[in-house]
Amino acid sequence: MKFYMPVKVYDEQECVALHGEELASLGRKALIVTGKKSAQRSGALNDVCTVLMMYGTPWYVFSGVEENPSVETVRKAASAGLAEGCDFVIGIGGGSPMDAAKAAAFLMKQEDPQTADLYDASMSSEAVPVAAVPTTCGTGSEVTGVSVLTLHEKRTKKSIPHKIFPTIALIDGKYLNGAHQTMITNTSVDALAHMMESYLSKKADAYSKAIAIEGLKIWSPCKEVLDGTRKADDADFSVLMRASTFAGMAIAQTGTSIPHALSYIVTYEDRIVHGKACGLFLARFVKEAAPEDRDPILEAAGFSDIDAFVTWIDKVFADTDVSPETLQRAYSTVVKDEVRMNGSRVPMDADALKRVVGIQ
Ligand code: NAP
Ligand code: FE
Repeated sequence: MKFYMPVKVYDEQECVALHGEELASLGRKALIVTGKKSAQRSGALNDVCTVLMMYGTPWYVFSGVEENPSVETVRKAASAGLAEGCDFVIGIGGGSPMDAAKAAAFLMKQEDPQTADLYDASMSSEAVPVAAVPTTCGTGSEVTGVSVLTLHEKRTKKSIPHKIFPTIALIDGKYLNGAHQTMITNTSVDALAHMMESYLSKKADAYSKAIAIEGLKIWSPCKEVLDGTRKADDADFSVLMRASTFAGMAIAQTGTSIPHALSYIVTYEDRIVHGKACGLFLARFVKEAAPEDRDPILEAAGFSDIDAFVTWIDKVFADTDVSPETLQRAYSTVVKDEVRMNGSRVPMDADALKRVVGIQ
């Protein structure tokens, strides 16, 4: 068995301020990579800039990373970082800016960075140091080496082959305060998918399973927040962030599975956000698992049985439509992907995949 999780995790209130010196001393000048507005609105950007200023580390902000970031955006971020003389990267935001930050850190290590380097598996995966400050509660990107980018030429999304783990992750639930309920629900279902897909992976072992099960137990009491039964409070925000980080640690060991593979096409074609796109297939995927495989995860997440889980997901995503053409394309792409089809303990053939996708 192998367990590799090289990220120093600080998960506590005001952690940016508490560990500012460590953050500011990752290099001489920081490239801060953010999305459009939430890094500012959540207060995370201000917290980071305050400590950088306090410890005398200059920075340059590359803002405006789009959802599901493209390779072109990453290249621009890296070029800006190099032009500004930055030697480390701080990703602030959801999975999109954090993934873009990691990929940019890889390009910034190259002498003459090219977009094609991102997917060149023969190159060394060295990168300049990265710090991650999540403001969503879904991807766990702050503790994974994964960077998922959009490839417009292939009309889909794909992880780069390089594993770029952040050096430190600064996790504070307060950055979720003020976020829209829909974003919290969608991203928390992404975390749920990570834990369930990881647990059901053929690569799962005693370490990754323990993390997935513990993360599901942490996540469980927040179900009522996610389905709108009760309003979130500060304690819920911390819990949801922690569950997301546990989920990231689990997929860092095993990778994801069929729901994520299907989601990439659905997100690309029908612009359905990542967590929701995974959630649409999750319950039907878990339903295909043998009872001895699925019961521990359903129990840990607080669902009495598989039907209760299917009902809950249907309630949460009641209003979602995916076009039949997109579902067909998702099916035809994934059914040919032998690694995905054989990667989990869930028995998967063409008929089972059709049931998961919900087509005849
Ligand atoms: P996201 O794409 O980073 O952000 C979604 C939206 O939420 C954006 O509009 C963003 O606004 C907003 N937002 C972020 N934080 C907010 C806050 N605190 N309050 C209000 N709005 C906020 O969403 P995500 O689901 O976290 O990330 C999805 C991406 O991560 C996908 O590309 C997915 O493939 C990838 N992913 C990566 C991993 C991994 O291991 N690396 C795992 C799963 C998924 P702004 O633009 O203004 O910031
Ligand atoms: Fe995900």
